[in-house]
Amino acid sequence: MSSDKPVIGIPRCSRVDDYVESVKRAGGEPVVLDATGDPARSLDRVDALLLTGGLDVDPALYGETPHATTEVDADRDGFEIPLSREAVARDMPVFGICRGVQVLNVAAGGTLVQDIPSTVTSGLPHSIDVPKDHVAHAVRVTPGTRLASALGSSTPSETCSVNSRHHQAVGQVAPSFVVSAVSEDGVVEAIERPASAFCVGVQWHPENFWRTGEFAGLFAEFVAAASRQRTRVDD
Ligand code: MN
Repeated sequence: MSSDKPVIGIPRCSRVDDYVESVKRAGGEPVVLDATGDPARSLDRVDALLLTGGLDVDPALYGETPHATTEVDADRDGFEIPLSREAVARDMPVFGICRGVQVLNVAAGGTLVQDIPSTVTSGLPHSIDVPKDHVAHAVRVTPGTRLASALGSSTPSETCSVNSRHHQAVGQVAPSFVVSAVSEDGVVEAIERPASAFCVGVQWHPENFWRTGEFAGLFAEFVAAASRQRTRVDD
């Protein structure tokens, strides 16, 4: 890689273009990772990991039986769970989005709420598919967190408007992680690991806003952390 830009590894997913564009606009060099081969070796090529959206994490990984609505992606789990563990162990910057925050939490020993509609009765819309940047609800961001600092310029108050395309969410927060945003109904919308250089996960889809830049600051903080760490093994 001849570029001076930090290289951001992005596990392949069905709507990868928005992740790629968001990383480019933040000054990073995106590399899409296929769920094949050794996760640790995949990480040797990158400076940071962006965990992407997709289907559900296998509940067996956190000791539960599947809910009727749970739709597992075993191939991605088999690649991304060890990938997440290894990245956190290396203190490589990690940013998890939607399924990504769920992978991050389960890989670190947390659990998930398997089906929000059958668990939370508030009726707050967490599953609005179209348009992708439709603002579905607000989240309350915990003051003093990395998330709050990264969103700083765009959110003068402590709430933030987000899109929402999920039927699952973080349940028990993994040891060493804290909650950094919740919605009004108590659903966990973001977590982070204070001991890490940058390890943040959000339940919404900030990558869908690259045209209008609402979450440009969040991608900028992530890519800046990748630039400082420079963990990749140069060829
Ligand atoms: Mn939501």
